[in-house]
Amino acid sequence: MAQQSLIDEQSEPNDATPFLPEKRTLSALREAAAGCRGCHLWRGATQTVFGEGLKRARVMLVGEQPGDKEDLAGKPFVGPAGRELDKGLEAAGIARDEAYVTNVVKHFKFEERGRRRIHQTPKRFEIDACRPWLDEELRVVEPEALVLLGATAAKALLGSSFRLTQHRGELLDSDLAPIVTATIHPSAILRAPDEDSRIAQRDSFAEDLRVVARALA
Ligand code: SF4
Repeated sequence: MAQQSLIDEQSEPNDATPFLPEKRTLSALREAAAGCRGCHLWRGATQTVFGEGLKRARVMLVGEQPGDKEDLAGKPFVGPAGRELDKGLEAAGIARDEAYVTNVVKHFKFEERGRRRIHQTPKRFEIDACRPWLDEELRVVEPEALVLLGATAAKALLGSSFRLTQHRGELLDSDLAPIVTATIHPSAILRAPDEDSRIAQRDSFAEDLRVVARALA
C-alpha cells in the first residue's frame, strides 16, 4: 500500500516551473502559486501558503513547510511555532514585520490520525518540485540576510551534507545572500521535553538570531 502510494506520488508532476507566471513580481508569484499543481501535495492541503513580508525585506527566514494552523490561515508562521519565531526575533531586535518569512515547501504535508493532522517531513522530490517558488522569492526580495530554520530548509538550500548540529548560528559562506545562517526550526522549542530545556532552546534560538542582527548592524 505504502509502495503504491509512493508510485502514485511520483507519477504526478514534480516541478512547479510550468506554473510560474510571466510577470515575476511577488504579488503575481503569490497569485500563481495559489493554483500550483507542481506536485501531489496540493491534494490534501487547504491552500498554498506563500511567503509573506516586505518586497525589500533585509532578512528572509525560510522554514520547512506550513503547519496545520498555517494551512488553514493561508499564512506562514502564524501557529505556535510562529509565536516562538516572533519571540526569538523580538529578543534579537529584528522586527518581524520588516522580515520576509516563507517555507521551502508551500503546501502542508501531513498524515491523518483520527481527527488530527500530523506533520510529515517533505521528501526530497517534493522539495525540489517546489523550489522554483523559493528561487523566485529570493530573486525578488534579494535579502541581505537569509536565515534557514531547521535541518530540512538548511539541507534544501545548502546541500544534503550540511549538518545543522555542527554549524547552527555560524555565518556561512554561500552565494544565496551576503549573510547566510542556519538555526533550529522554532517548532523544536515546542517539542522540548520540559520547561528548563524549552527555555534553553528558546535562548539559544534567540542567540542565533542575534548573530544575524549583529551582522546586519
Ligand atoms: S508543494 Fe509546491 S510544487 Fe507542490 S503543489 Fe504545492 S506549491 Fe506546487
